[in-house]
Amino acid sequence: MPTDNQPTPDGATTTPRIEFKNVVKKFGDLTVLNNLNLTVGHGERVTLIGPSGSGKTTILRLLMTLEDLTDGYIFVDGAPLTHAERGGKRVALKPKEVSKTRRRIGMVFQQFNLFPNMSVIENIIEAPVHVLGKKPEEARVEAKGLLEKVGLAAKADAHPMQLSGGQQQRVAIARALAMHPEIICLDEVTSALDPELVGDVLNTLRDLAQETDITMLIVTHEMQFARDVSNRVMMFDGGQIVEEGSPDKIFTDPDHNRTKKFLEAVL
Ligand code: ADP
Repeated sequence: MPTDNQPTPDGATTTPRIEFKNVVKKFGDLTVLNNLNLTVGHGERVTLIGPSGSGKTTILRLLMTLEDLTDGYIFVDGAPLTHAERGGKRVALKPKEVSKTRRRIGMVFQQFNLFPNMSVIENIIEAPVHVLGKKPEEARVEAKGLLEKVGLAAKADAHPMQLSGGQQQRVAIARALAMHPEIICLDEVTSALDPELVGDVLNTLRDLAQETDITMLIVTHEMQFARDVSNRVMMFDGGQIVEEGSPDKIFTDPDHNRTKKFLEAVL
Protein backbone atom coordinates (compact mmCIF):
# COMPACT_ATOMS: atom_id res chain seq x y z
CA MET A 1 0.00 0.00 0.00
CA PRO A 2 1.38 3.47 -0.77
CA THR A 3 2.35 5.41 2.31
CA ASP A 4 3.45 8.84 1.15
CA ASN A 5 0.98 11.56 0.37
CA GLN A 6 2.84 13.56 -2.25
CA PRO A 7 0.50 15.47 -4.54
CA THR A 8 0.57 14.27 -8.12
CA PRO A 9 0.29 16.71 -11.05
CA ASP A 10 -3.48 16.26 -11.24
CA GLY A 11 -3.87 17.26 -7.60
CA ALA A 12 -4.66 13.79 -6.32
CA THR A 13 -2.52 12.18 -3.65
CA THR A 14 -0.68 8.91 -3.94
CA THR A 15 -2.98 7.35 -1.34
CA PRO A 16 -6.15 7.16 -3.37
CA ARG A 17 -9.49 7.84 -1.78
CA ILE A 18 -10.77 4.60 -3.31
CA GLU A 19 -8.71 1.68 -4.47
CA PHE A 20 -9.92 -1.63 -5.92
CA LYS A 21 -7.12 -4.18 -5.92
CA ASN A 22 -7.49 -7.44 -7.85
CA VAL A 23 -11.23 -7.37 -7.23
CA VAL A 24 -13.16 -10.45 -8.29
CA LYS A 25 -16.93 -10.63 -8.15
CA LYS A 26 -18.87 -13.71 -9.12
CA PHE A 27 -22.58 -14.35 -8.99
CA GLY A 28 -22.65 -18.15 -8.94
CA ASP A 29 -20.88 -19.25 -12.13
CA LEU A 30 -20.97 -15.78 -13.64
CA THR A 31 -17.73 -13.82 -13.20
CA VAL A 32 -18.68 -10.17 -13.44
CA LEU A 33 -15.37 -8.62 -12.36
CA ASN A 34 -12.13 -10.48 -12.87
CA ASN A 35 -9.11 -8.94 -11.15
CA LEU A 36 -10.30 -5.37 -11.50
CA ASN A 37 -7.91 -2.64 -10.42
CA LEU A 38 -9.00 0.95 -10.20
CA THR A 39 -8.24 4.04 -8.19
CA VAL A 40 -10.11 7.24 -7.55
CA GLY A 41 -8.37 10.27 -6.09
CA HIS A 42 -9.60 12.67 -3.42
CA GLY A 43 -12.36 14.91 -4.76
CA GLU A 44 -12.37 13.20 -8.14
CA ARG A 45 -15.68 12.75 -9.90
CA VAL A 46 -15.50 9.61 -11.95
CA THR A 47 -18.25 8.41 -14.27
CA LEU A 48 -18.46 4.77 -15.27
CA ILE A 49 -19.93 4.24 -18.72
CA GLY A 50 -20.40 1.14 -20.82
CA PRO A 51 -23.03 -1.30 -22.02
CA SER A 52 -25.64 -2.79 -19.75
CA GLY A 53 -24.27 -5.75 -17.82
CA SER A 54 -20.64 -4.56 -17.93
CA GLY A 55 -20.39 -4.47 -14.12
CA LYS A 56 -20.76 -0.74 -13.37
CA THR A 57 -23.48 -1.05 -10.73
CA THR A 58 -21.71 -4.03 -9.18
CA ILE A 59 -18.66 -1.81 -8.59
CA LEU A 60 -20.79 0.74 -6.73
CA ARG A 61 -22.57 -1.97 -4.76
CA LEU A 62 -19.27 -3.54 -3.71
CA LEU A 63 -18.08 -0.18 -2.47
CA MET A 64 -21.31 0.22 -0.52
CA THR A 65 -20.79 -3.30 0.89
CA LEU A 66 -24.16 -4.30 -0.54
CA GLU A 67 -22.48 -7.24 -2.28
CA ASP A 68 -19.84 -9.63 -0.99
CA LEU A 69 -16.42 -9.42 -2.53
CA THR A 70 -15.47 -12.82 -3.99
CA ASP A 71 -11.76 -12.01 -3.90
CA GLY A 72 -9.41 -9.04 -3.73
CA TYR A 73 -9.46 -5.88 -1.67
CA ILE A 74 -11.09 -2.48 -1.55
CA PHE A 75 -9.38 0.36 0.30
CA VAL A 76 -10.79 3.73 1.34
CA ASP A 77 -8.00 6.20 2.11
CA GLY A 78 -5.70 3.20 2.46
CA ALA A 79 -7.94 1.47 5.03
CA PRO A 80 -9.32 -1.93 4.03
CA LEU A 81 -13.10 -1.89 3.61
CA THR A 82 -14.22 -5.51 3.97
CA HIS A 83 -11.12 -7.70 3.80
CA ALA A 84 -7.52 -7.22 4.83
CA GLU A 85 -4.29 -9.09 4.38
CA ARG A 86 -3.16 -10.26 7.80
CA GLY A 87 -0.32 -12.66 8.37
CA GLY A 88 -0.21 -13.40 4.65
CA LYS A 89 -3.90 -14.38 4.64
CA ARG A 90 -6.98 -12.66 3.29
CA VAL A 91 -9.35 -12.19 6.22
CA ALA A 92 -12.84 -10.73 6.45
CA LEU A 93 -13.10 -7.71 8.75
CA LYS A 94 -15.55 -7.63 11.64
CA PRO A 95 -18.89 -5.89 10.95
CA LYS A 96 -17.91 -3.04 13.30
CA GLU A 97 -14.69 -2.41 11.37
CA VAL A 98 -16.58 -2.53 8.08
CA SER A 99 -19.25 -0.07 9.18
CA LYS A 100 -16.65 2.43 10.41
CA THR A 101 -15.30 2.83 6.89
CA ARG A 102 -18.61 2.20 5.15
CA ARG A 103 -20.14 5.15 6.98
CA ARG A 104 -17.95 7.51 4.99
CA ILE A 105 -19.69 6.51 1.78
CA GLY A 106 -23.15 7.72 0.74
CA MET A 107 -25.30 6.36 -2.04
CA VAL A 108 -28.26 7.54 -4.07
CA PHE A 109 -30.15 4.79 -5.86
CA GLN A 110 -32.26 4.63 -8.99
CA GLN A 111 -35.31 3.85 -6.83
CA PHE A 112 -35.12 6.58 -4.21
CA ASN A 113 -35.66 4.11 -1.34
CA LEU A 114 -37.16 6.68 1.00
CA PHE A 115 -39.05 5.37 4.03
CA PRO A 116 -42.69 5.78 2.91
CA ASN A 117 -44.12 6.03 6.42
CA MET A 118 -41.86 8.92 7.44
CA SER A 119 -42.01 12.58 6.51
CA VAL A 120 -39.29 14.08 4.36
CA ILE A 121 -37.45 15.56 7.33
CA GLU A 122 -37.76 12.33 9.33
CA ASN A 123 -36.21 10.49 6.39
CA ILE A 124 -33.25 12.86 6.43
CA ILE A 125 -32.58 12.84 10.18
CA GLU A 126 -33.06 9.09 10.67
CA ALA A 127 -29.47 8.01 10.10
CA PRO A 128 -27.75 11.07 11.62
CA VAL A 129 -29.76 10.50 14.83
CA HIS A 130 -29.66 6.70 14.98
CA VAL A 131 -26.27 5.99 13.43
CA LEU A 132 -24.23 9.08 14.29
CA GLY A 133 -26.04 9.79 17.57
CA LYS A 134 -26.89 13.40 16.69
CA LYS A 135 -29.45 15.25 18.78
CA PRO A 136 -32.78 15.28 16.88
CA GLU A 137 -33.10 19.09 17.13
CA GLU A 138 -29.61 19.59 15.76
CA ALA A 139 -30.23 17.08 12.97
CA ARG A 140 -33.48 18.87 12.06
CA VAL A 141 -31.74 22.24 11.71
CA GLU A 142 -29.16 20.70 9.43
CA ALA A 143 -31.80 18.78 7.46
CA LYS A 144 -33.67 22.03 6.82
CA GLY A 145 -30.50 23.56 5.43
CA LEU A 146 -30.02 20.57 3.16
CA LEU A 147 -33.64 20.73 1.98
CA GLU A 148 -33.08 24.37 1.11
CA LYS A 149 -30.01 23.39 -0.85
CA VAL A 150 -31.99 20.87 -2.93
CA GLY A 151 -34.85 23.34 -3.39
CA LEU A 152 -37.38 21.56 -1.16
CA ALA A 153 -37.51 23.67 2.00
CA ALA A 154 -41.31 23.79 1.78
CA LYS A 155 -41.67 20.00 1.72
CA ALA A 156 -40.10 19.14 5.08
CA ASP A 157 -43.33 17.71 6.51
CA ALA A 158 -44.65 16.10 3.35
CA HIS A 159 -44.58 12.34 2.91
CA PRO A 160 -42.67 10.80 0.00
CA MET A 161 -45.93 9.74 -1.69
CA GLN A 162 -46.93 13.41 -1.95
CA LEU A 163 -43.81 14.28 -3.94
CA SER A 164 -42.88 13.80 -7.59
CA GLY A 165 -40.16 11.29 -8.42
CA GLY A 166 -37.70 14.13 -9.01
CA GLN A 167 -38.50 15.67 -5.65
CA GLN A 168 -38.14 12.30 -3.94
CA GLN A 169 -34.76 11.88 -5.56
CA ARG A 170 -33.66 15.29 -4.31
CA VAL A 171 -34.74 14.26 -0.80
CA ALA A 172 -32.63 11.11 -1.24
CA ILE A 173 -29.65 13.33 -2.15
CA ALA A 174 -30.24 15.48 0.96
CA ARG A 175 -30.52 12.31 3.04
CA ALA A 176 -27.19 11.05 1.75
CA LEU A 177 -25.53 14.43 2.42
CA ALA A 178 -26.85 14.49 5.99
CA MET A 179 -24.31 11.76 6.82
CA HIS A 180 -21.43 13.98 5.65
CA PRO A 181 -20.04 11.37 3.28
CA GLU A 182 -16.56 11.78 1.86
CA ILE A 183 -17.59 9.64 -1.09
CA ILE A 184 -20.95 9.53 -2.80
CA CYS A 185 -22.08 6.85 -5.24
CA LEU A 186 -24.76 7.83 -7.73
CA ASP A 187 -26.32 4.81 -9.40
CA GLU A 188 -28.50 5.75 -12.38
CA VAL A 189 -30.22 8.36 -10.25
CA THR A 190 -32.41 9.66 -13.07
CA SER A 191 -33.34 6.38 -14.77
CA ALA A 192 -36.65 5.99 -12.94
CA LEU A 193 -37.75 9.57 -13.59
CA ASP A 194 -40.07 11.01 -16.20
CA PRO A 195 -37.95 12.98 -18.69
CA GLU A 196 -39.26 16.36 -17.54
CA LEU A 197 -38.10 15.65 -13.98
CA VAL A 198 -34.54 14.69 -14.87
CA GLY A 199 -33.22 18.24 -15.26
CA ASP A 200 -33.88 19.37 -11.68
CA VAL A 201 -32.13 16.34 -10.21
CA LEU A 202 -29.12 16.74 -12.48
CA ASN A 203 -28.91 20.45 -11.71
CA THR A 204 -28.95 19.69 -7.99
CA LEU A 205 -26.04 17.30 -8.53
CA ARG A 206 -24.18 19.76 -10.77
CA ASP A 207 -24.42 22.34 -7.96
CA LEU A 208 -23.22 19.76 -5.47
CA ALA A 209 -20.24 18.90 -7.63
CA GLN A 210 -19.33 22.58 -7.86
CA GLU A 211 -19.82 23.42 -4.20
CA THR A 212 -18.17 20.45 -2.51
CA ASP A 213 -15.10 18.29 -2.86
CA ILE A 214 -16.99 15.07 -2.16
CA THR A 215 -15.50 12.27 -4.23
CA MET A 216 -18.16 11.03 -6.63
CA LEU A 217 -18.54 7.72 -8.38
CA ILE A 218 -21.28 7.98 -10.96
CA VAL A 219 -23.11 5.48 -13.15
CA THR A 220 -25.38 7.26 -15.60
CA HIS A 221 -26.85 7.13 -19.08
CA GLU A 222 -26.94 10.93 -19.14
CA MET A 223 -23.83 11.57 -21.18
CA GLN A 224 -24.13 15.36 -21.10
CA PHE A 225 -24.29 15.21 -17.32
CA ALA A 226 -21.27 12.89 -17.25
CA ARG A 227 -19.43 15.40 -19.41
CA ASP A 228 -20.39 18.34 -17.20
CA VAL A 229 -19.56 16.90 -13.79
CA SER A 230 -16.80 14.31 -14.20
CA ASN A 231 -13.08 14.84 -14.19
CA ARG A 232 -12.59 11.31 -15.45
CA VAL A 233 -14.63 8.83 -17.43
CA MET A 234 -14.03 5.08 -17.38
CA MET A 235 -15.38 2.98 -20.20
CA PHE A 236 -16.25 -0.57 -19.12
CA ASP A 237 -16.95 -3.67 -21.09
CA GLY A 238 -17.17 -7.19 -19.70
CA GLY A 239 -16.06 -6.05 -16.26
CA GLN A 240 -12.83 -4.52 -17.58
CA ILE A 241 -11.79 -0.90 -18.07
CA VAL A 242 -11.53 -0.50 -21.85
CA GLU A 243 -10.11 3.01 -21.55
CA GLU A 244 -10.27 6.00 -19.28
CA GLY A 245 -9.57 9.68 -19.64
CA SER A 246 -10.96 13.18 -19.37
CA PRO A 247 -14.57 13.61 -20.50
CA ASP A 248 -13.30 15.64 -23.46
CA LYS A 249 -10.99 12.87 -24.56
CA ILE A 250 -13.46 10.01 -24.08
CA PHE A 251 -16.46 11.78 -25.60
CA THR A 252 -14.75 13.45 -28.53
CA ASP A 253 -11.69 11.38 -29.33
CA PRO A 254 -11.82 7.90 -27.80
CA ASP A 255 -9.00 5.53 -28.65
CA HIS A 256 -10.97 2.31 -28.70
CA ASN A 257 -13.51 1.10 -31.19
CA ARG A 258 -15.60 -0.36 -28.39
CA THR A 259 -15.94 3.12 -26.85
CA LYS A 260 -16.71 4.71 -30.23
CA LYS A 261 -19.45 2.14 -30.93
CA PHE A 262 -20.95 2.53 -27.46
CA LEU A 263 -21.02 6.33 -27.73
CA GLU A 264 -22.50 6.21 -31.23
CA ALA A 265 -25.32 4.08 -29.85
CA VAL A 266 -26.11 6.30 -26.87
CA LEU A 267 -25.39 9.86 -28.06
P1 ADP B 1 -24.23 -2.66 -15.33
O1 ADP B 1 -24.42 -1.77 -14.14
O2 ADP B 1 -23.01 -2.35 -16.13
O3 ADP B 1 -25.47 -2.73 -16.21
P2 ADP B 1 -24.32 -4.80 -13.41
O4 ADP B 1 -23.18 -4.54 -12.49
O5 ADP B 1 -25.68 -4.41 -12.95
O6 ADP B 1 -23.99 -4.14 -14.82
O7 ADP B 1 -24.36 -6.34 -13.78
C1 ADP B 1 -23.24 -7.05 -14.25
C2 ADP B 1 -23.63 -8.50 -14.45
O8 ADP B 1 -23.90 -9.10 -13.19
C3 ADP B 1 -24.88 -8.70 -15.29
O9 ADP B 1 -24.68 -9.82 -16.10
C4 ADP B 1 -25.95 -8.95 -14.26
O10 ADP B 1 -26.98 -9.74 -14.80
C5 ADP B 1 -25.18 -9.68 -13.18
N1 ADP B 1 -25.75 -9.49 -11.84
C6 ADP B 1 -25.85 -8.32 -11.17
N2 ADP B 1 -26.40 -8.50 -9.96
C7 ADP B 1 -26.66 -9.84 -9.85
C8 ADP B 1 -27.23 -10.67 -8.84
N3 ADP B 1 -27.62 -10.16 -7.66
N4 ADP B 1 -27.34 -11.99 -9.09
C9 ADP B 1 -26.92 -12.50 -10.26
N5 ADP B 1 -26.38 -11.80 -11.26
C10 ADP B 1 -26.25 -10.47 -11.07
